[in-house]
Amino acid sequence: MATVIINRKDLKNNIEKIKNEISKQLPDDKGRKVKIIAVVKSNGYGLDIVKYTKFLINNDIDYFAVSTVQEALTLRKAGIKETILMLSSTAIKSDIKNLIENNIILTIGSKEAAQAVDEIAKEMDKKVKAHIKIDTGFGRYGFCYTAKEEIVETLKTLENVKIEGTFSHFSIAFYNKDEYTKMQFKRFIDTIEVLKMNNIQTGMLHICNSSAFLKFPNMYLNAVRLGSAFLGKLAFKNSIGLIPIGFLQDKVSEIKTLPKGYNIGYSNSYKTKKETKVAIISCGYIDGVNMTLGRDMFRPIDKIRYLAEGIKQLLKKQEIYVTINNEKCKILGRIGAHHITVDITNKNVNIGDIVTFKTNPQFVDSSIRREYE
Ligand SMILES: *Cc1c(COP(=O)(O)O)cnc(C)c1O
Repeated sequence: MATVIINRKDLKNNIEKIKNEISKQLPDDKGRKVKIIAVVKSNGYGLDIVKYTKFLINNDIDYFAVSTVQEALTLRKAGIKETILMLSSTAIKSDIKNLIENNIILTIGSKEAAQAVDEIAKEMDKKVKAHIKIDTGFGRYGFCYTAKEEIVETLKTLENVKIEGTFSHFSIAFYNKDEYTKMQFKRFIDTIEVLKMNNIQTGMLHICNSSAFLKFPNMYLNAVRLGSAFLGKLAFKNSIGLIPIGFLQDKVSEIKTLPKGYNIGYSNSYKTKKETKVAIISCGYIDGVNMTLGRDMFRPIDKIRYLAEGIKQLLKKQEIYVTINNEKCKILGRIGAHHITVDITNKNVNIGDIVTFKTNPQFVDSSIRREYE
């Protein structure tokens, strides 16, 4: 059975390396140190949201962020009592109520959300904790930085909300050109200035994601929100010693010998050049085989790269390998949804031997088992 394996030692290494970077920062004038907010959305970046969050808690991380109501409730149902911030603003009343009842810090990113939260807080007779989200040029959640007056007017009227933080999100911090990121940072700081001038509490300020965390220590402010840094999976090489987390493991299920000139796989794109001993493994792209691309795959250039990879594979110029008994074995033919065939000619491989694949756990279906070892 395919399993995503998470190496505890490597994950611990990444946590320590991140803490070490943070510890290089001096506390601010109120003696506060930079806080780490661990983002555990998307099933904990594929590491199993509950197991992963518990692992982080055991390593002294105590502040978490999610992007759906479901994720927040999953953590609470698992008995996790630590601070949880819901990153997405919502004006849907049932969701707001659900989050408040479960002691989740809300994000307010619009006039409608602000009014809905204030109203529900009043009904529940509660002072509700929230962070304010400023959209500094992402076009998603948050008050537009261009609408400063509206932000001030909206926040001034809130009676039942305690603003514990204010944040924004970078859209292209992973890129090697920094102008846009620096501009977003300036838009954020300018907005904060205006809020402060109007006596609006901003609470803790945070804007850095993992890429910005590695590139711009001057932008840490009061907290950093980190996801991919914990997994050591970033769009550029890191110099602080983060190790990529997570690989896929399965067992050899069949072995056979195919004659010369024999077809392997869908589309008949591969024929054996000589008599070939092969191992069949019941693990395919559904399980995450060859899904190693970074998280910024949504850029057009990455889609082109992805297609190019497919074409190269088709032209048999690119070879994809798995590891069996510490030996690299080549995948023959197309990767199927659930199966692959690999070349084990002249190799000491037996049925039941362990096979490992590179993968990005985020792209592995959540039905596949996760194991910490
Ligand atoms: C996903 C996310 C993060 C973490 O991003 P990484 O690049 O994985 O560190 C931070 N903030 C918000 C709002 C996010 O949605």
